[in-house]
Amino acid sequence: MSRPLIPWSRLSQLDRREQEAWSNQRLVEHVRQRLYPFSAHYRKLFDQAGIRPEKVRSIRDLASLPLTTKKDLIDAQMDPERKRDFVLIPTPEKIRAHWSLGRKLALLLGGETAREALRREYTPNFLTFTTGRSAEPVGFAYTPHDLDLLGEVGGRMLDVHAIHDPQARILNCFPFAPHLAFWQTTFAGFETGRMMLPTGGGKLMGTAGNLRLAERMKPTVIIGTPGFLYHMLREAEAKRSDLSAVKLVILGAEKVTPGLKQKMSMALEACGAREVTISGTYGFTEARMAFSECPAPHDVSPGYHLYPDLGIFEVLDPQTLAPVGEGESGELVFTPLDGRGTMVCRYRTGDLVVNGIVHEPCPHCGRRVPRITSELRRASDQKDMNLTKIKGTLVDLAHIGSVVSDMIEVEEWQVVLKKVNDDPHELDEFILRVSLRGGLERGFGEKELRQRILDATEVAPSRIEYHTTKEMLEFLGMETEMKEKRFLDTRPK
Ligand SMILES: [Zn+2]
Repeated sequence: MSRPLIPWSRLSQLDRREQEAWSNQRLVEHVRQRLYPFSAHYRKLFDQAGIRPEKVRSIRDLASLPLTTKKDLIDAQMDPERKRDFVLIPTPEKIRAHWSLGRKLALLLGGETAREALRREYTPNFLTFTTGRSAEPVGFAYTPHDLDLLGEVGGRMLDVHAIHDPQARILNCFPFAPHLAFWQTTFAGFETGRMMLPTGGGKLMGTAGNLRLAERMKPTVIIGTPGFLYHMLREAEAKRSDLSAVKLVILGAEKVTPGLKQKMSMALEACGAREVTISGTYGFTEARMAFSECPAPHDVSPGYHLYPDLGIFEVLDPQTLAPVGEGESGELVFTPLDGRGTMVCRYRTGDLVVNGIVHEPCPHCGRRVPRITSELRRASDQKDMNLTKIKGTLVDLAHIGSVVSDMIEVEEWQVVLKKVNDDPHELDEFILRVSLRGGLERGFGEKELRQRILDATEVAPSRIEYHTTKEMLEFLGMETEMKEKRFLDTRPK
């Protein structure tokens, strides 16, 4: 029932003004015809704030709309009365009250076929969940329309990753789970007709099982989480597996440092894969889509290429919540412009982007869509467990992770937060467990590691413990957990 999408190949070459015209048009349609009429949560919020949907004319008007936080989603989910408040639910009364005469006539004249199409468009048939470690997972509903969009975005991702060869073979090592990463990847294969083989990750068939599949399939692309793929590539190196067909490794879910890329490419080289590109992706459950980096050397990040027709990122000052100037740092706030099922508007991601969003054409691929180029940091406690106090200092755990995994000497690592002697009244202890690359002496690089963590977070580890990689894999639950346990916090809440 909505306007067809502009082809991605065309959109990505439009200039900024033309792209914004698309964003504006789609925002207006979305707010007036879907979000305001069919979302109980936003209709109430707009009414309380005295915002008329007709007043939303362009993306500049977003700043006048209320923000949405993870807490809003959790609160609604916990309340049986408000459980479906974020889901778009059209009723005959709402359609009568909010749709234009033309649209109402089309629905009326279309008879049962048009009504059935509307039901199909809006009735949820799939869910993914957030993966917060302490908060209850929040479910996001998709309808058949949204699954089409998931496929569209998957196609765009493979295009940005330059997977154009119809003979491409992609090994999908994300864990089987109702999580965006697995399904976004799977749908990319379905949409484009590329071979996409899911292994289910380490928990399902073990690292050995993943490698056996890789040896049989001879993938040209491997996609998964950085933690599991680095481990799998090391095993491949030890077993002298043949991965010589691999040209590209795509990492999801976490920030990837040049050091980790280098370690991965060394392992790949030992398996016969030379000149492999390693790219990242950025996505989150609440967006129901992910964004890709185009191919570039290990030491540069071309940034995540955005889709201005499907969603808008604003950059806000996380304290004042006012928009920052172009090129300034701030928290990313996301508004999807299409989609049915569970819809958010101006969602605070909690991710801090340094120096804002870039609008210049990408120097690596020439596409003209906006890009998030810098590394992302935690800006607020939106993703709870990632931001925590250690010895009284607020620390971004993911940031510690990227500092440690960037070190060439470190093979595996885990952060343990506990109380001295496990006494709740005692001080915090910050223990870093590491295993070193083969042949390195215990304590090697310790001074530098300690200093780098201190520089990055203002807190130094209470001590660094050395273990064998085999012990570390046990601590991490590499083959027994859905996601390895990088951060263990045993302090009482
Ligand atoms: Zn690019």
